[in-house]
Amino acid sequence: MATSPPATVTLTIDGQTVTVPTGTTVYQAARAAGIEIPIFCYHDRMPPLGACRMCLVKVEKMPKLQTSCTLPAAEGMVVDTRSAEVRAGQEAILEFLLINHPLDCPVCDKGGECPLQDQTLRWGPGRSRFVEAKRDFAKPVALGPVLVLDRERCILCWRCVRFGELIAGDHALKGFARGYASEINTPSAAPVESKFIGNTIAICPVGALTSRTYRFRARPWDNHPVASTCTHCGLGCAVWLDVRGGQVVRTRARELPAINDVWLCDLGFFGHDYVGAPDRLRTPLVRRHGRLEEATWDEALELVSARLAEAHARAPGRVAFLGGRRLANEDVVLATALFREVVGTPHLDHRTDVPAGSPSLEVAWGLRAPIDEIARGDVFVLVGCDLTEEYPVLWLRLKQAVDRGARLILLHARRPEIARWAHWTIVRPYDRLAQAVMDLRAAVSATRDSRVAARVGAAPRDAAAAALADAGGAVAAGGRVHVFVGRVALDGLSGRPILRAVADLAARVGGVVHVLRGRGNDIGAQRLGLVPAAGGWTAPEILERAGAGEVDVLYVAGADPATDAADAAVWRAARAGARFVVVHDPFLSPTAETADVVLPALVLPERDGTVMNLEGRVLGLRAAVAGPGQARADGEIFAQLAERLGAVLAPAVADELLARMRRLVPGFALDAVVPVDPVPVLPPLPAGEATGAGLDGEGVLVLPVDTLFTRGTMTGRCPGIAGLAGSPRCVVHPDDAARLGLVDGALVEVATAAGAVVLQVRISDETPSGQVLVPRRAEGAPVGRLLRWPQIAARGTVRAVLPAAAAGGGA
Ligand code: SF4
Ligand code: SF4
Repeated sequence: MATSPPATVTLTIDGQTVTVPTGTTVYQAARAAGIEIPIFCYHDRMPPLGACRMCLVKVEKMPKLQTSCTLPAAEGMVVDTRSAEVRAGQEAILEFLLINHPLDCPVCDKGGECPLQDQTLRWGPGRSRFVEAKRDFAKPVALGPVLVLDRERCILCWRCVRFGELIAGDHALKGFARGYASEINTPSAAPVESKFIGNTIAICPVGALTSRTYRFRARPWDNHPVASTCTHCGLGCAVWLDVRGGQVVRTRARELPAINDVWLCDLGFFGHDYVGAPDRLRTPLVRRHGRLEEATWDEALELVSARLAEAHARAPGRVAFLGGRRLANEDVVLATALFREVVGTPHLDHRTDVPAGSPSLEVAWGLRAPIDEIARGDVFVLVGCDLTEEYPVLWLRLKQAVDRGARLILLHARRPEIARWAHWTIVRPYDRLAQAVMDLRAAVSATRDSRVAARVGAAPRDAAAAALADAGGAVAAGGRVHVFVGRVALDGLSGRPILRAVADLAARVGGVVHVLRGRGNDIGAQRLGLVPAAGGWTAPEILERAGAGEVDVLYVAGADPATDAADAAVWRAARAGARFVVVHDPFLSPTAETADVVLPALVLPERDGTVMNLEGRVLGLRAAVAGPGQARADGEIFAQLAERLGAVLAPAVADELLARMRRLVPGFALDAVVPVDPVPVLPPLPAGEATGAGLDGEGVLVLPVDTLFTRGTMTGRCPGIAGLAGSPRCVVHPDDAARLGLVDGALVEVATAAGAVVLQVRISDETPSGQVLVPRRAEGAPVGRLLRWPQIAARGTVRAVLPAAAAGGGA
């Protein structure tokens, strides 16, 4: 009978006895014992490689020096990491690396935080016997909008290549040629295609890969790191904000195993430059004679409080508040205290981008389990979500589970980038998505019900039906099943049947349904009560009522409905119908441009506070830099307005603020995960449920989708993100492109009954034929222009405006 190996092995390293689990490498065992071995290619989130040969050790009874990172520790092994022979080996490796290295440390971004510098100081020979000319390449090589390569600095450790192979799965970089001539590039020498490339800059042990936006901006010892949280997508990755001269010059990942481990996406890495943008608002603006003009805080607050008091006197319900995504939790509590308790209106909401009638308004957003628990799942079903475009680092966590054998099932109206990892990808045009979800539910039931299973099994199946049946079988097989419902699935008329189907499907297998909805601090706004009180209006209702002339003061803070409203005509009517509009914003956003008073707000990296991420975890913010001019924190503005209205906001006092948060959200504490109720099974609509979403008719189906990189009010002011976003492009299927005579890069007009936008075209079969995808937040072309509530898609036309060459695009 075979005996299983012992659980641990005991070895001796530099005379020290070390016991480690079986399978541990000698390098890891030494590290566990506090013995440092120099190394370049090893990264503890990837398997060992043994490429750099720096981690040499001498092992008793072994003839040659060994690479400790690839050598399993064995019982009784005697290892020496310090002997003269080992030192000579290490010195030789370093000397060889330095022959080829340009030693341009004074102008290298990595200088001061460079493992090659550090290890040369500690383990190097102290002098070099080589006087040959250095390698000299044309430099730097631009590998895309954010990544730059200085080839002569590369020590061929393969960390960057392996990150793309093993962690991100996007194979963004590749090694070419062999030996002395080896170099790194993208697979086709085209700009790098990745949403995670900033991580390769972070893990490159030398300055071979650097950031285009940070290059030559600072020496690391001049940077002051501030621990904070990325607030772009709502996942809440932990970051270091590196500050120099009052500016955030760089963002780096901060290790937080519960959320992002040690990684960030490129929106997190390169999405901070808006903080120091030159066109930040510095003073309040007041509309005089039709123009927004600078005003004092006193003047602006007096005007706003007078208008609030007048509206209150007329009827408190004639004031409505919209916003929350950009607000910290503390601001949210002060906003609700001001508008509910002092002004007395029940009309508050943060869901400014949801169409009227959407089931997204009926369920709490967010994950129903901590990310760590989800990452231990066995089956993931993603319905109408595209993780790399919406919550990229959540994909890295799920991918780890998929790599170890979890099943991945995608149902969407487009083929997501992660489809290559999926066991089943079911793509249907948007108007047939709900039916596909119902079919999956039926397949799950069928597999669990043997009588029906026999019937289904006997029926002839086409490939699509077979995929659904097999995917249903995988779900029915059980284990820990997590079903994610995204915005495309939830927001429109199909949302209700989809939500009912997934809730039922999950209930059958004991699975959990998660609602992937919300950006920035939407979850904090929702949990802390920035939703309508009894009798209050939802955000879409506020806009509709404003359009009907029922709102005297429309107050917007931390939101941009002019860009985000799912029906642009509704926003236009709301603006026209509201008598007085107040906006807090760091910039003159499209909403702020139309306001009567604009108050300059701090952004989250300029203030202390907390936010809540998608899993309901309370995360800290630290003020990294001071705000520009007279900009103030949103919460401070709410408290000052209350004072002018003759009230003191109780939560304006710090102790009361925390106490109130704990009353609103029991268990509220830094790092705590605040649980939320399971997704309910919504009742069907009285008239029954339409699964076709009422989109029959002629023309292509126009569907807005999320894209990670956009040129929004804040991201458009980050050169890296603006570069990554490029020109907004709609996606047309090759068959449709051929029929319409479109070539890649051509400028096209996408038109519906509601309106039209002009975009460049990208031809790809990631969308089904007959459907065109438009980016939801295209610069200057909000897709709300194409839509009429309650639909989130529309029938329309696509027609060429300019051929590719004239549009400046191309394949
Ligand atoms: S570019 Fe950097 S990470 Fe990539 S192989 Fe070269 S040294 Fe290693
Ligand atoms: S996944 Fe979201 S929170 Fe994390 S770095 Fe990217 S944008 Fe920021």
